[in-house]
Amino acid sequence: MNVYDARRMADLLINNGYEKANDVSEADILIFYTCNIRERAAQKLFSNIGILKNKNTKVIAVGGCVSQTEKENIFRHKDINISFGAQAYHRLPEHIGEILSGVKNRILDIEFDQTQKFNHLPERQNVSFSEFVTIQEGCDNFCTYCVVPYTRGREYSRSASDVINEVKSLLANGTKEITLIGQNVNSYHGEAPYISIGQPKGTWRLERLIREIAELDGLKRLRYTTSHPKDFTTELMQIHAETPVLVPFAHIPVQSGNDRILKAMNRGHTAQEYLDKIIKFRNICPNIQFSSDFIVGFPTETEEEFEDTVKLAEQVNYTISFSFKYSRRKNTPADKMPGQIPETIKAKRLAILQKTLINSQIYHNNALIGKTQEVLFERRGRKPNQYIGKNVYLQSVIVESQNNLIGEFRKVYIEKAGENSVMGKIVK
Ligand code: SAH
Ligand code: SF4
Repeated sequence: MNVYDARRMADLLINNGYEKANDVSEADILIFYTCNIRERAAQKLFSNIGILKNKNTKVIAVGGCVSQTEKENIFRHKDINISFGAQAYHRLPEHIGEILSGVKNRILDIEFDQTQKFNHLPERQNVSFSEFVTIQEGCDNFCTYCVVPYTRGREYSRSASDVINEVKSLLANGTKEITLIGQNVNSYHGEAPYISIGQPKGTWRLERLIREIAELDGLKRLRYTTSHPKDFTTELMQIHAETPVLVPFAHIPVQSGNDRILKAMNRGHTAQEYLDKIIKFRNICPNIQFSSDFIVGFPTETEEEFEDTVKLAEQVNYTISFSFKYSRRKNTPADKMPGQIPETIKAKRLAILQKTLINSQIYHNNALIGKTQEVLFERRGRKPNQYIGKNVYLQSVIVESQNNLIGEFRKVYIEKAGENSVMGKIVK
């Protein structure tokens, strides 16, 4: 979502007469957009300011979740002129103007008014073959470890017509792959586009939104992320089975495989309920594959409780996973819990879990050998003439080609598999 926000900010500033610098050393204005889901975000920000600031720098603006968390305290770093929240970046041109003209030398703008932001942004420009589209922001789930509800704010869904118009304009400009994003896309409930006289406007859920977007001309691949297991519906599983452009892949973070920990995290489901959804999903849509996020060392987690997480990971056999040591976030309920786990134990558990997760990843990479995969190429590889792309399951596929493949779909016959990628030949 920060990538998405940053692109929209760039378009906004370019529309207001600013230009993208070729190199950071030539930039008059530096904008740092931050995430503080895990530790040391403020320290990382301050050290990056130190590294990137130079004799040309006239304005330093800092935005996102660190701004939201630090409030006035952010100005303990003397070089920062503007600090803006994730819901306030549409006012950036105004703020930068005030700093450049000397009207002000410090501006703090961390208001939460989500509906406003999207109404003040220009249409998407400099469009790529693969783009994100925010459909929903903020979160009302209040998992006890998480800062998102405090930094991104309460849950807000964009109207369905706003989302569809943005997708249409991207497709008209050559985008092939769209990823609908939100902190919890399954809770999407945007205002419906069609209004009959005398009828209440009504809302669309994610399921309806996906069905409509999947029909749009020019769309080759549709993804969405992130899903909350408790809100994942049977209907959405069916849509995966019926909709060719929707990838047979779902990121459904489980965090832990132990019921007591899941309850302490306030996740709203048990391990078995999660597994039941995975089994049902596989029955409805046999080619579905999964990825997940995990947190190890949540306060009071015992060795046995951690083992339940490893067991669940083995049972599901995820294609890709993201795993983290629990990180204490100020003002969250888990931060105040007794029984914080020492860093050394967290690190040990993370290493054990990651071994299991990597084994699953290798299993899925090996399973591709001898198969043909549809790949969207994203970038060059390290070696000359090497190109790297993704299949529907977000597995990295490497090929050699004399032609530039970036932004192109190709069918690739997979010959070799490694830990993090597979290699193959383009099928003529
Ligand atoms: N809304 C999504 C996740 C958003 S944050 C969901 O509920 O699944 C992305 C991931 O960061 C989370 O899934 C979680 O695994 C991790 N995360 C969030 N807060 C964390 C914390 N305090 N410590 C460690 N990992 C955390
Ligand atoms: Fe954070 Fe996700 Fe929980 Fe919301 S659902 S509080 S974003 S982990």
